[in-house]
Amino acid sequence: MRTIVTGAASGIGRAVARRLASDAARAGEDLRIALLDIDASGVDDLARELGPGALAVQVDLGRDASLVQAVSTALDHLGGGLDGLVSNAGVISPAPLKDVRAEVWDRDFSINTRACLRLAQECYEALRGARGSIVVTASVSGTHPTADVGAYCSNKAAVSMLARQIAREWGPDGIRCNVVSPGSTFTGMTRAGLEKPGVMERRGAQVPLGRVGVPEDVAAVVAFLLGPDAAYVSGADIPVDGGWTAALMPKV
Ligand code: NAD
Repeated sequence: MRTIVTGAASGIGRAVARRLASDAARAGEDLRIALLDIDASGVDDLARELGPGALAVQVDLGRDASLVQAVSTALDHLGGGLDGLVSNAGVISPAPLKDVRAEVWDRDFSINTRACLRLAQECYEALRGARGSIVVTASVSGTHPTADVGAYCSNKAAVSMLARQIAREWGPDGIRCNVVSPGSTFTGMTRAGLEKPGVMERRGAQVPLGRVGVPEDVAAVVAFLLGPDAAYVSGADIPVDGGWTAALMPKV
């Protein structure tokens, strides 16, 4: 499977890349993957770990010229066709809405939402030729307003709708598009908060399955959505949250 993964230097993106590599090895297939991230040394390290089929590409997804160049480099490495695009990189800038600065709103929207559209557009021909599949990482915060991250909630709601619209518009071209919406997952994005005393336990206790997620929980669902077992799944937004969203109504 020829795949591009964004946000591959850390957390969920890195787990997706490792999962695709181990699935390819188990199937006896050559790995062909482009690892995109703003963190050059992070993707260099991962590419070394995964071997010659993996290419590290530094990109700032908030800058369109950088994104276009990175996709071109990635597609050259993959030989032109593309079976999977994992649009996963993301940022969060906590602040109550009354304090959100317009330039921070715009920057985060450009990385979390606009880049997903631009990546899909730049990959469209390669995906169409391969009858490929897109998976976008949104968040349970895109469906549930969350304390002090209203900008993030807004751009994640938008990116989920964008992905489902792609499913609608590009399905006739043979392109599937789905969304994973993680709940609280232990990654670079959440480590500082979750490592505060007692937070991991309190968060875990709010989850029916009794724990905070790990990146591999999300990677497994991404791998399923990319693969042939999901051949008739498109336009879905799947929470990967241990049942958290199913348990929000308080007991009376
Ligand atoms: P992470 O911080 O570990 O990984 C995010 C990656 O995105 C990093 O490697 C970072 O360098 C990269 N990135 C940031 N800005 C970039 C840019 N401008 N250009 C290119 N790459 C850039 O966090 P994660 O939790 O693995 O996040 C992955 C996705 O999962 C994000 O979209 C995030 O919003 C989403 N998510 C995470 C959680 C959670 O609890 N961790 C919950 C819901 C959704």
